[in-house]
Amino acid sequence: MSLTVLYRGPLSSCNYGCEYCPFAKRHETAEEHAADGAALSRFVAWALGRTHSPLRVFFTPWGEALTQVRYHEAMIRLSHASHMERVAVQTNLSARLDWLTEAKAERVGVWATFHPAWTTMERFLAQTERLRARGVHFSVGVVGFPEHRAAITALRAALPASTYVWINAVKKLVYAEDDVRFFESIDPLFRLNLKPHPSLGRACQAGETVIAVDGDGVARRCHFIPEAIGNIYQAGFEQALRPRPCTNATCGCHIGYVHLDYLELGKVFGAGLLERVPVHFSASSISQR
Ligand code: SF4
Ligand code: SF4
Repeated sequence: MSLTVLYRGPLSSCNYGCEYCPFAKRHETAEEHAADGAALSRFVAWALGRTHSPLRVFFTPWGEALTQVRYHEAMIRLSHASHMERVAVQTNLSARLDWLTEAKAERVGVWATFHPAWTTMERFLAQTERLRARGVHFSVGVVGFPEHRAAITALRAALPASTYVWINAVKKLVYAEDDVRFFESIDPLFRLNLKPHPSLGRACQAGETVIAVDGDGVARRCHFIPEAIGNIYQAGFEQALRPRPCTNATCGCHIGYVHLDYLELGKVFGAGLLERVPVHFSASSISQR
């Protein structure tokens, strides 16, 4: 059975300044960087040594990881391990991408968020071209603020049809139906993200085939339920992996609800589940390479 690990270490800084984000323009001290580096090294060593079944790793940092060379090196090393099915990352795509030349790019997944207030369309598109040229699986997305409709329209028009553009609904907004229709015209799965999904007592892969791991190795079933189920660095940890019904009333974030069994989103996203690329986009992007 393969295992998916959503890794989120202590890193909590970002070069962008999105006003809704607690990590905006936050800088870390040298000590904080060292602590994050040590935690990342330990995790990578664990992942490289866990060879008894296929592994998928998804870096879901608090802030922006790819501005730090240590995350390039981690992704390069993990991508070359034969038991690694995917190593993916959530990123604002602002940092240099030359490290991809050293990675096994067909195993790399990128979930790239476009922030119109913090970069130009030209720069962001140039970065997506670099991903495409390297054969990386990637999706592009935008936070669904209605005031960004013009930028989102331009982004969709500038990207090939084979590139999936997702829209993350701003949960505290009450969208006008016209805005919902607009966002749905960009992202056919937008309505799926618009409302939280009932999850209490429902079967979910989180805690069985998917876990969230922090910098100390503490494993939780997902990022949304704080209760620990064990520690990956302790012997026998994998005995803790078993089916667990969800204990939250709802699940509203893509990186959570994609694992809810009843939504059957494994069929929609297939091998592109981590980097949020639906199956039919994967097929078309591969055929156009
Ligand atoms: S790019 Fe992401 S991590 Fe950085 S400030 Fe914006 S929302 Fe926060
Ligand atoms: S449904 Fe969401 S909150 Fe519940 S266990 Fe799964 S990922 Fe976690």
